[in-house]
Amino acid sequence: MSNALLVLNAGSSSIKYALYGTGPDLPRITQGQIDRIGLGPAHSADGATQSLPVSADATHGDILDWLTQHLSASFPTHTIVAAGHRVVHGGQDFTGPTHVTPDIIPRLEALAPLAPGHQPHNLAGIHAVARGWPNIPQIACFDTAFHRTQSRLAQLFAIPQSLTDGGVLRYGFHGLSYHYVSTQLENHLDNPDGRVIIAHLGNGASMCALKNRQSTATTMGFTALDGLVMGRRCGELDPGVIFYMLRDLGMSVAEVEDMLSRNSGLMGVSGISSDMRDLLASDAPAAAEAVDLFVYQACKKIGALAATMGGLDALVFTGGIGENSAKIRARIVDGCAWLGAQLDTDANNISEARITTHASRLAAHVIPTDEERIIAQAVSAKIAL
Ligand code: ADP
Repeated sequence: MSNALLVLNAGSSSIKYALYGTGPDLPRITQGQIDRIGLGPAHSADGATQSLPVSADATHGDILDWLTQHLSASFPTHTIVAAGHRVVHGGQDFTGPTHVTPDIIPRLEALAPLAPGHQPHNLAGIHAVARGWPNIPQIACFDTAFHRTQSRLAQLFAIPQSLTDGGVLRYGFHGLSYHYVSTQLENHLDNPDGRVIIAHLGNGASMCALKNRQSTATTMGFTALDGLVMGRRCGELDPGVIFYMLRDLGMSVAEVEDMLSRNSGLMGVSGISSDMRDLLASDAPAAAEAVDLFVYQACKKIGALAATMGGLDALVFTGGIGENSAKIRARIVDGCAWLGAQLDTDANNISEARITTHASRLAAHVIPTDEERIIAQAVSAKIAL
């Protein structure tokens, strides 16, 4: 028998999972993804796509119970000795990976209203592991933690102090992705400690400004709704729109929340799809407009984050769109010509690690993210394997 670490990354309609050996390089034993949870029959995308032997209305908890049994049965020569979880919101208290003990659970539950699409599913993962392997240590790794190096100014909203003191701050998200990519900067950048923006462009999308490989500012806020145009989330919005929807359109709070967090973004603008591939393949003017807005907002936020650092040395693309879409990268890099960016079209078309010319004053790179690995590393360090 050999030991293994389990990593769970539970999203709103998906669960990513991975098993790692406990050797020094944490060799990955397997990884997979279960999609379309709550959207009809969930299916597994590890190797060949296959339907899962669970009912069409199975919850995250049901599927996680199936997954723990499936992993035990599939890897009979491995003993799972610890588990790590992506937990989206750690509030002000959780600034690094944390052992999950019974007193932690209610504190994580209390943060669920700030990440309603994720936090309950992250907790479901913790409970499922406790059912499957009752005695193993579990480590929570927070998406907000990487941003706690930011100055107070970068975290403040211009609202009364009483609200700020009550925890209404810009927390920022995608921290596990930024942390992983920050560990890769030295392999790619001339000056990894310089002024860098990492653009995590996926269904959820945000950017992080870094100096000395630490977060100094980010586009997401109190919740993961703020900032860039996302698959289904609106990103930056005048709060006055919310009052208008409530007061003048007679919408309920739940309807407003649903519209801004599930029916806006690329989906809302295009009316066609939240998936960038569908929009790029479509001839419909509304699809083109959604893509144009995505690029426009990305360029605008790069300008704002660069201003907070007094300039920019490198731009790094990651996430599903950032890693795979040469078209979107090209348009964003072209929008950064004023910062000195000069695209290397051939390098970009084959997703080379560096996609700007050698003469380019601003370097742009593609660095694939690996949130599961950074969680495995945290678990390994925390339980001193
Ligand atoms: P999540 O935030 O759910 O983890 P991902 O990081 O997997 O999402 O990103 C999903 C997004 O990446 C989708 O909009 C998808 O269309 C987009 N994407 C993936 N591959 C490509 C591609 N080759 N070209 C354009 N977009 C792509």
